[in-house]
Amino acid sequence: MSIQTIVDRLKNPKYTGTNRCLKCTYVNVAIASVGGGIIAFYGTLLHAGLAFVVALCVIYFWGYLIPGTPRITKQYFPASLYSVFHHTRGNESQQGFEGVFDVEQVIVQNNIASLEEEDLQLDPAFRNDWSNKITSMSFEDAAYGLESFPNIKTELTFRNTGGKFCARHLGEQLAVWESKEACIAHFAGMEVLPSHLQTEDQYTLEEQYQLVGSLRLFTPICPCGGGITEKIETIESCCDIRETLVLNCSDCGAQLFEMQDPP
Ligand SMILES: [Zn+2]
Repeated sequence: MSIQTIVDRLKNPKYTGTNRCLKCTYVNVAIASVGGGIIAFYGTLLHAGLAFVVALCVIYFWGYLIPGTPRITKQYFPASLYSVFHHTRGNESQQGFEGVFDVEQVIVQNNIASLEEEDLQLDPAFRNDWSNKITSMSFEDAAYGLESFPNIKTELTFRNTGGKFCARHLGEQLAVWESKEACIAHFAGMEVLPSHLQTEDQYTLEEQYQLVGSLRLFTPICPCGGGITEKIETIESCCDIRETLVLNCSDCGAQLFEMQDPP
């Protein structure tokens, strides 16, 4: 058995590795430092150093130092402080194409969706065009759509990693979708969007990508032709419990969209 295997077996998988919460780790290291300082003040530097090393080992293998930290954080942290530790994740499918503009305003201004009793409703004509394109588009067409971005220099590689579908470019992760089906739905949306924009030239390709990334909340159909089911899942991580809106295909089960903390 290699040393790495032994180390991995000793680790608490729930709060270490990919499940490690860096912010909780920093807090626990800070607590260990303060504890070490107190021991140094009242005891000796040797004892303080030993205590600090032991504390770091506990954090490394267990994920946190103070027993029950994740549970206490979930239940008793004041909201203002809690928000500091709240894991924030944007819409991952927008990675690599950053831009800041008011998506909702653009969608409503162009009649792609309308605000009805504070809820956005997709325009039936857009929904129809998008549905037809989703079920007729091949993955190769979707990949071609992504490769046509001006900042794409070489052929992209695609792979499933950690339950997500990723596009990589020059060895770096360019974009992530919930599934291959979600990627197809995204680029099907990119195909039909221009004909529904009143001033198409006003928006860059990246902005159109971002617009459709948000519109995927209303994905009307799966590329397999299956309908969409919507549900709220409660996902528990080390220091918080979050609600996640998930869209799945009712036929093939593919996940089409995911949104944390839905409004
Ligand atoms: Zn499907």
